[in-house]
Amino acid sequence: QLIFLDGKFVKKEEAVVSVYDHGFLYGDGIFEGIRAYSGNVFRLDEHLTRLYDSAKSIMLTIPYTKEEMAHIVAETLRKNKLTDGYVRLVVSRGVGDLGLSPYSCEKATVLVIAEPLRIYPKELYETGLDIITVATRRNRSDVLNPMVKSLNYLNNVLVKIEATLAGVPEALMLNDQGYVAEGSADNIFIVRDKKLITPPGHVGALVGITRNAIIDIARAKGYEVEEAIYTRHDVYTADEVFLTGTAAEVIAVKKVDGRIIGDGKPGPITNELLESFRELTLTDGYK
Ligand code: PLP
Repeated sequence: QLIFLDGKFVKKEEAVVSVYDHGFLYGDGIFEGIRAYSGNVFRLDEHLTRLYDSAKSIMLTIPYTKEEMAHIVAETLRKNKLTDGYVRLVVSRGVGDLGLSPYSCEKATVLVIAEPLRIYPKELYETGLDIITVATRRNRSDVLNPMVKSLNYLNNVLVKIEATLAGVPEALMLNDQGYVAEGSADNIFIVRDKKLITPPGHVGALVGITRNAIIDIARAKGYEVEEAIYTRHDVYTADEVFLTGTAAEVIAVKKVDGRIIGDGKPGPITNELLESFRELTLTDGYK
């Protein structure tokens, strides 16, 4: 496996970063999770826009143009002979001294890892997920959350721990006011009377690339889609609930906090959107 690290492709064992890197010391950095389907890097431009917007927001200079970065991503897949896979792109503030100030860091560290994908087992797409809401809360719209996909993922890590302890594969975070925000690494949609509703970013959700693709697909199919604030009650009583994310794509939820959603199976709109999403992944991207 070859990893792109600061301008070179190196073997996995040699891909190491300094203990003085502020990404490690302070979580000072940003990242993207991207997916390739049959050699097509799905919505790479949108991922890179989110990355460069995140960088701008935290005053981090990425030492490559967007075009160069697109090329690096495609090249990393090619070097690893992957046409289908998951790409992790990380940009950290770089190596500095122990002080908190980012101004001691001369140059950002940039790395790109491409791997075959580990996704939820196929049967979970057929049965739907059993999920819970957890105590960990999502911050709302300060500069870090939710628009910046930063290396500070402790909230999300805590959600994973809570989910694992409860024996479920994923969990939902509420924000500090109790409104539904998102999963540990996915966005949520509810469907009621054929209308799709997903929380707006300012509730405390990352504006997902998959989420946006699903909004485009659903609107093109004539479904009404609304970005609105909602509570757990709205989730419990929805006709359908599904999650979206680069790794999970579109996955139905069958149970939330013990309440069965709809008839406890992936709903027809969820299935229709998953099928159209998979078709879109083959055409909408960068080669
Ligand atoms: N929410 C969080 C916190 C995430 O980390 C992610 C994804 O990686 C998502 C939502 C889904 O976003 P996307 O569809 O861009 O993968």
